[in-house]
Amino acid sequence: GLADRLQGTMQKIRGKGKVNEADVKEMMREVRLALLEADVNFKVVKDFVKRVSERAVGQEVLKSLTPGQQVIKVVKEELTELMGGEQSKIAVSTRPPTVIMMVGLQGAGKTTTTGKLANLLRKKYNRQPMLVAADIYRPAAIKQLETLGKQINMPVFSLGDQVSPVEIAKQSIEKAKEDHHDYVLIDTAGRLHIDENLMDELKDIKDLTKPDEIFLVVDAMTGQDAVNVAQSFNEQLGLTGVVLTKLDGDTRGGAALSIRSVTNTPIKFVGMGEKMDALEAFHPERMASRILGMGDVLTLIEKAQMNVDEDKAKELEKKMRTASFTFDDFLEQLGQVRKMGPLDDLLKMLPGANKIKGMDNLSIDEKQIGHVEAIIRSMTLQEKEHPEVINSGRKKRIAKGSGRSIQEVNRLLKQFEDMKKMMKQFTNMPKGKKKGFKLP
Ligand code: GDP
Ligand code: MG
Repeated sequence: GLADRLQGTMQKIRGKGKVNEADVKEMMREVRLALLEADVNFKVVKDFVKRVSERAVGQEVLKSLTPGQQVIKVVKEELTELMGGEQSKIAVSTRPPTVIMMVGLQGAGKTTTTGKLANLLRKKYNRQPMLVAADIYRPAAIKQLETLGKQINMPVFSLGDQVSPVEIAKQSIEKAKEDHHDYVLIDTAGRLHIDENLMDELKDIKDLTKPDEIFLVVDAMTGQDAVNVAQSFNEQLGLTGVVLTKLDGDTRGGAALSIRSVTNTPIKFVGMGEKMDALEAFHPERMASRILGMGDVLTLIEKAQMNVDEDKAKELEKKMRTASFTFDDFLEQLGQVRKMGPLDDLLKMLPGANKIKGMDNLSIDEKQIGHVEAIIRSMTLQEKEHPEVINSGRKKRIAKGSGRSIQEVNRLLKQFEDMKKMMKQFTNMPKGKKKGFKLP
């Protein structure tokens, strides 16, 4: 898949000290193949690779502290851009109800998504939606929506299967006004393939209800097909957004990458399962992370680059690698880390960090940092470089000098020992550990 392939490539360059143009070229070839393999539209791939290459051979990368990581950062930023950059919003009509039309092929997940979206609108945005059963063709489609409605305790408007969908839609809006619903979600019929009858009916509903949003529901598993579907629905109806369903399955991710750039329609939500709470706002940046499989490592790199003196960082990194790390370095690092924000948060961003033994002991309270500094400052030079000489007599002296308790001195010595152990584990850790993809 795309993620594995890109990760393989990135791992090759991740540890690299310097990259040259030939390295970038090779990487871009891999990226290109990975994207094509993931069923991303050919033209999209071409443009993408061109943009990344231009940036990757530029100063930004060649001059950076960690060029390999910098390239990954560029790839990620461009992936994010490709999927729409900023996260998009959902419409709110100034004259309620806000009307949302759900369209798509049969089996894409329209009915399920209609229920999920209503659920989300109520739970997260405190809205009072009403569902409309306008699929009169598929056997039991009305019943399916009614069952979902019961399940999430949401009203469903239906006139059976003998009234035309256009008439159902029209009456549903009158009813919503009467009952003070602020959102109307119209579940329409689909076909196995796009046809004129389907489009004509959808156009009639559109003309009559003047929807604020027309969401195309597409199955992410269908890859390049999803892009074609999106394109023709967009041409015929003018979509305002796409909902990509079944992203919890084993999808190649290609659809997410092409849809936005081919149709210029933003992906607004993603379906992550069959349950009514399995709908999430689409975050292009997180999707890019998911595709690259890199957790929050980028945020960490960015933070470090913003706050840490590069020379010092290099030196520190070397010491960490050789584990020749003293209390003076520790003190130095505390200062650097303080500038970056809460230490616990930073540690959590490291992929695989949760698997490291002794990590809990390392969580250092912000307000305790001052105490720690005081203790270290009360050590002699010898003690800082060779803490193993610190016996109980020395501990007493250090405690007194810093105004902290012996227990605190002991705790710090233990933490320092653990930290050195952790560094050894880090430097032996396999690179590019995959972290799960979670949205709130
Ligand atoms: P419709 O024909 O477009 O209305 O599609 P349905 O809403 O009836 O969904 C078709 C099937 O896809 C059902 O079995 C749903 O439970 C399933 N489905 C819908 N969305 C998702 C999703 O995000 N993840 C998974 N795993 N299944 C989904
Ligand atoms: Mg349906």
